[in-house]
Amino acid sequence: MASNRRVTKALARDQVALIDVEIEKLQMARRMMLAASHCRCPTLERCACGSMDDVTAELRAFLVAEHAVAESP
Ligand SMILES: [Zn+2]
Repeated sequence: MASNRRVTKALARDQVALIDVEIEKLQMARRMMLAASHCRCPTLERCACGSMDDVTAELRAFLVAEHAVAESP
């Protein structure tokens, strides 16, 4: 029984970690949508007003980090 409880706790901790990752992704998506709502350029892809600079850099760093995690053994 005690060992089942340990397994359950470990699974719960794993789920908390996964939920934290999802929360961070949603918060990033929220920041991107806010930045997009402030952008005054004809297209977001060619934003020159600076509204997208921070979130674009953040997204790039996130994708690099996620790629590094995916590549790690
Ligand atoms: Zn812009």
